Amino acid sequence: MRKFFKALTFMSVALFSLSSAFAADSAAQEAASSPIVHDAFKDKVLYVGCESAFAPFTYINDKGELVGFDLDLIRAMAATEGFKVEVRAFPFDGLIPALMTGSIDLIISGFTISPERAKRVDFSDPYYRCGLTFLIKTVNADKFNTLEDLKNEVLCSQIGTTGALYTTKVLPNVKLRQFNSPPESYLELQNDGCVAVINDRPVNDFFLATSKTKEIVSKPITTDTSEYYGIAVRKGDTRMLNLINKALKNTLENGDFKRISEQWFGYDVSAGIRQ
Ligand code: GLN
Repeated sequence: MRKFFKALTFMSVALFSLSSAFAADSAAQEAASSPIVHDAFKDKVLYVGCESAFAPFTYINDKGELVGFDLDLIRAMAATEGFKVEVRAFPFDGLIPALMTGSIDLIISGFTISPERAKRVDFSDPYYRCGLTFLIKTVNADKFNTLEDLKNEVLCSQIGTTGALYTTKVLPNVKLRQFNSPPESYLELQNDGCVAVINDRPVNDFFLATSKTKEIVSKPITTDTSEYYGIAVRKGDTRMLNLINKALKNTLENGDFKRISEQWFGYDVSAGIRQ
């Protein structure tokens, strides 16, 4: 009898996974073949794309909620123009494809404005300014002070990020291991799988502050005026771009930006974009 139940359980599990596999498959096929029906202006809803491990901008907190400065900001921005927000998480390197195929209306994800990306998407006015740092084990802190010092070492970064691109530009022959998310690269550093992690300063700083580790320290690579985060919309989508720029301006003027910024960073980061 027990055997029978076991077999039954196995069968229903197998059947369930089969049917859900079919369901996922046909949903994907449908999505691929059906035209995009979402009209943000008609629906008054913005489909917002972000990655989910870029704290404190967009990440999953201890309660399993997708939160962050960027998400509070875009919600406040949208509200000033009477829009709601629906957030959809993607791997970082899947964000531009998701935007291009219409799964989302915009990207807000600590996304740096760059000339290369500007060939594929249009960027809003900047809303945050930062630079790159590298994290290194405290025991190695005296040995490596600049990125050039690391040219013969194994380094880690997040796939497709400006940190990864900058490192390969400055050190073309370096061994750079690229991970899907910053937390994976931090783990690799902690396990001595690489000598340093290259990433945006606020994200590295947030990791140091929240992990409270004394074993890792941070060193600057580029200055804090090197990168500006912007919100990306589809190339040529001027109506959306104008809405986003207007909404950003609204939050800078009505105090929402300052309030959200102080909540996440302890000070008003808009000083950086006003300079
Ligand atoms: N600012 C970096 C970039 O745009 C990293 C962004 C991210 O990983 N979310 O490439």
